[in-house]
Amino acid sequence: MSHSLRAATFVADADRTTWHDETLWFVRQKRDKAVYAVPEFQELRELASQIKEHTLGRLDEYLKQFEAEARRNGVHVHWAADAAEHNDIILDIIRRHNDTRVVKSKSMLTEECHLNPHLLGHGIEVIDTDLGERIIQLREEAPSHLVLPAIHLKKEDVGATFHQHLGTEKGNHDPQQLTEAARQHLRAKFLAAEVAISGVNFAVAETGGVVICTNEGNADLGVNLARVHIASMGIEKLIPRLSDLGVFTRLLARSATGQPVTTYTSHYTKPADGRELHVVIVDNGRTQQLGRPDFRASLKCIRCGACMNTCPVYRRSGGHSYDFTVPGPIGAILSPNIDLKKHSSLPFASTLCGSCTDVCPVKIDIHTQLYKWRQVLAEAGEIPIAKKWSLRFMGRFLASPKAFGLGGKLARTGLRLLPHQLTHAQALNPWAVARELPEPPKQSFREWYARAVKQ
Ligand code: SF4
Repeated sequence: MSHSLRAATFVADADRTTWHDETLWFVRQKRDKAVYAVPEFQELRELASQIKEHTLGRLDEYLKQFEAEARRNGVHVHWAADAAEHNDIILDIIRRHNDTRVVKSKSMLTEECHLNPHLLGHGIEVIDTDLGERIIQLREEAPSHLVLPAIHLKKEDVGATFHQHLGTEKGNHDPQQLTEAARQHLRAKFLAAEVAISGVNFAVAETGGVVICTNEGNADLGVNLARVHIASMGIEKLIPRLSDLGVFTRLLARSATGQPVTTYTSHYTKPADGRELHVVIVDNGRTQQLGRPDFRASLKCIRCGACMNTCPVYRRSGGHSYDFTVPGPIGAILSPNIDLKKHSSLPFASTLCGSCTDVCPVKIDIHTQLYKWRQVLAEAGEIPIAKKWSLRFMGRFLASPKAFGLGGKLARTGLRLLPHQLTHAQALNPWAVARELPEPPKQSFREWYARAVKQ
């Protein structure tokens, strides 16, 4: 199913669409206020982009350095070529400890690898401890945003979910009381868990340590209570030196939520006495993207979500319409790398306005890559026949001044004379269903110009 068809379900609820749009725009405005308060923000973006560019160019060296330093610190390092290997490695670690209870903090990589169903299928209870993640886990849904996984839900939805699963009072959707219920529920899970799984925001080659940023402190609570910590990281999370980290932490939270810094920025370098720390380093298609010159810059992404908050298409179509772990503009660049056919509609889910590129803290040329994917898809024959022929027709039409002039005249006359029900009929003009077309001018610019020159 294409993005536009999936979006139709979301858009059908006009109130929710408007609320979703406005909420994310509010987050975008918070980002702007935080950014304008830092005079050197553009220099930080440039620096972050260059550090990532440098690291991607020497990824093999930095990965080996990271592994050597981590092992020196007593960390168990594992390599996973794909999602299946990642899941098997983690299951194996849990089984070797005869454990069945796991808590997991936010990790898009484990979502990407579908770790939860894999563990549940093998009798392991895995509980997401980030509040938003726990809400969608209870509802058996996928996250709809990188940073705000339950942003598609209203407090009434959360109240109903908690009433069903946590036994809160029916009709209670007071955010404070719901949060307290989640807190009590999760506290018992934290105390019982023997293994804690976390994601990784940054991995430092120089020290062999990993850095995890959260606002709720759930990763730290889980990791510090459990005997075994498993950190799941994509190969692109590396930065060369500890001194590079400040550049990214200053950008990350400001771009994501408008905060100066995430509430917790925790460093895990070596296991505590009697404990184990495992790092699973995952490729899962990343080296393939690294090998695509036009798209490799997408691996600079630090998963702040700013491109989603600003994207007019994402804000009004919802994260689930992308049907990919990472939604929004960056997801539309990453997904065709994984499955060109399945995700062929995503690069078209953009106005190419460039707002995503403007806000990206690591200066990924997102809209340029979206446009490039469209060309790749067209060359590979992965666009619908109707789109292919209409683009071909438009190409010829726009290349002919005579046809363009005549077409404009017909459209202006038709819009003036034809009945409104016809010019705005859903079957003929779906664009105009929720919009009014502008008043057609009496003459084209060319006609006006020719007349003005004569006078
Ligand atoms: S592409 Fe840029 S703006 Fe989008 S999530 Fe990644 S870092 Fe943030």
